[in-house]
Amino acid sequence: MAMHGSCLCGAVRFEAEPQERASHACHCEMCRRWTGAMFIAAAVPEAALRWQGRENIGTYPSSDWAERGWCTRCGSTLFYRVTAEGEMQGVHFLALGLFDEPDALPLASEIFIDARPAAYALAGDHPRITGAEHRAMLGIDRN
Ligand SMILES: [Zn+2]
Ligand SMILES: [Zn+2]
Repeated sequence: MAMHGSCLCGAVRFEAEPQERASHACHCEMCRRWTGAMFIAAAVPEAALRWQGRENIGTYPSSDWAERGWCTRCGSTLFYRVTAEGEMQGVHFLALGLFDEPDALPLASEIFIDARPAAYALAGDHPRITGAEHRAMLGIDRN
């Protein structure tokens, strides 16, 4: 069953079927600066995502392998999308906070836990993975 969500102002809306009913938090420096804290998101393949108001999406190529999207009217953080070729290409990590029912996407892991600011910590019993461990699992030098 598809899930729905929108940005703060409603100019961008989506219907999406996440790969799994779970969310993941990233504490890396790029996500911290981009969101102001951390990025918590659910993975959605390109084919399982439909936008309304796509003309209101701005994108920033934050690296050679991904871009980040936001609403150009209200500034809401929307997604991190893999642009590099490979099996992950086109996967959107849609921000948890956009979903109408965020409780349906419980937190399953945290990555770059070693970069988390001391000001906050997430509750729960789930894997907490360092940046080095994350890079090793992907077999690549990227975040
Ligand atoms: Zn908006
Ligand atoms: Zn990150």
